Amino acid sequence: MTDVGALYRVFLSCPGGVVTDSRRPVPGAMFVALKGESFDGNLFAGKALEGGCSYAVVDDPGVIPSDDSARYLLVDDGLDALRLLAREHRRKLGTRLIGVTGTNGKTTTKELLRAVLSRHFRVLATEGNLNNDIGVPLTLLRLRPEHEVGIVEMGASHPGDIRRLVEVAEPDFGIITNVGEAHLQGFGSIEGVARTKGELYDFLRLRKGSQIFLNADDSRLCMMAAGLDAVAYGTSGNVRIWGESMESASSDPCFSFAWRDCNCPDALYKVHTCLVGAYNLPNVLAACAVGIRFGVSPEDICAGIESYVPIQGRSRLVKTERNRVVADAYNANPTSMEAALCNFARMEAPHKMAVLGDMKELGEASGRDHRRILELAFGLGLDRLIVVGPEFASALSAGDIPVENYPDAAAVGELFRKTRPEGFLILLKGSHSMTLESLLPLL
Ligand code: ATP
Ligand code: MG
Repeated sequence: MTDVGALYRVFLSCPGGVVTDSRRPVPGAMFVALKGESFDGNLFAGKALEGGCSYAVVDDPGVIPSDDSARYLLVDDGLDALRLLAREHRRKLGTRLIGVTGTNGKTTTKELLRAVLSRHFRVLATEGNLNNDIGVPLTLLRLRPEHEVGIVEMGASHPGDIRRLVEVAEPDFGIITNVGEAHLQGFGSIEGVARTKGELYDFLRLRKGSQIFLNADDSRLCMMAAGLDAVAYGTSGNVRIWGESMESASSDPCFSFAWRDCNCPDALYKVHTCLVGAYNLPNVLAACAVGIRFGVSPEDICAGIESYVPIQGRSRLVKTERNRVVADAYNANPTSMEAALCNFARMEAPHKMAVLGDMKELGEASGRDHRRILELAFGLGLDRLIVVGPEFASALSAGDIPVENYPDAAAVGELFRKTRPEGFLILLKGSHSMTLESLLPLL
């Protein structure tokens, strides 16, 4: 049996925190050996210690050398040990924690929350997209006594994924950004997605004093939230935080919105964001709701949201030498693809081109979804539409839509190198593995 108490005492003596990648050892850290499909971290424990780590947590006794065994801790299972350690640490510190899950907009919402809450608090938030079984414990293990609020992004691709993460993080507050179609291969259906995201609500329902921030425009979420203490945000009248997107000049792709705290209905705040796409409205309203709940002043909430610049290709407008590009190639599923296309349709430009890459992990629904997106994109009457990847290719072969199709980003790159498109507003959107962002330097 893994002795969590002993493990935790050793962790507290490690100023370098916890690492799991022996290629990046941190002096004074505790190395936890994890096993993947193609690697066994146990085999690298010695290397991590040589690299400066103080201790190695392993689940294979065979890798412990008899002459250096004091620096090794043997556990039943490396990943379980990491989870138990993270929960122990989280419990000991008792930091207020907000869990963020949902189909789209988790990272954006998490970063907006960070931008708003950092105005008044010392905040720890998930770095980048480290939202899985390993990323969540590692985030929690970065908590320090000085942190006043923690924001933890939680991702899921199979039933039970969120339950496992909330059992480690034990959040006090929760946000499900929305429930849409993604990872249907793992979830089976949209009901499966809803049930899995709902595992956050299931946990909070049993947690004393918990609260959620509820996207009241999502009727499915409203039903799922029954019985929970909620701060609602949305565009209808019956919410605590109300907001609407504002028209901006057609040359300005960034989105502006107005919002108010309905407890102080006289004050209306207008915010100009650096985000492209009015589908970000629920994301920013979530940040307003959290800010108000945590006592951040409305002025600071606005300033926090205005200061946020999107990370890693999420809805970013890039002015290249010859074109303007909406770089949104970080990920894609039918819901976000549709939102991105509708937003792109609203933007004004003399010449428009969309380069759309396959949406991965859609399982049986893949053919239908690619076909639907193809029809939607084609119906927008863009000057040029290019689809990339085998899923779009088979959707194309099932119909008669005349669209350019290339097998991969490299082939499109070849095309752009030869034809050097100029004067376009271009949307780049596809699943991460389609690597469409590699086209940016060619535009
Ligand atoms: P991942 O599952 O990869 O962690 P995520 O949920 O963290 O994704 P973000 O990285 O914030 O999502 O956003 C990814 C893309 O999803 C954005 O670039 C945008 O196209 C789309 N998106 C963001 N918010 C919304 C929303 N509220 N509704 C629909 N689409 C959205
Ligand atoms: Mg994310």
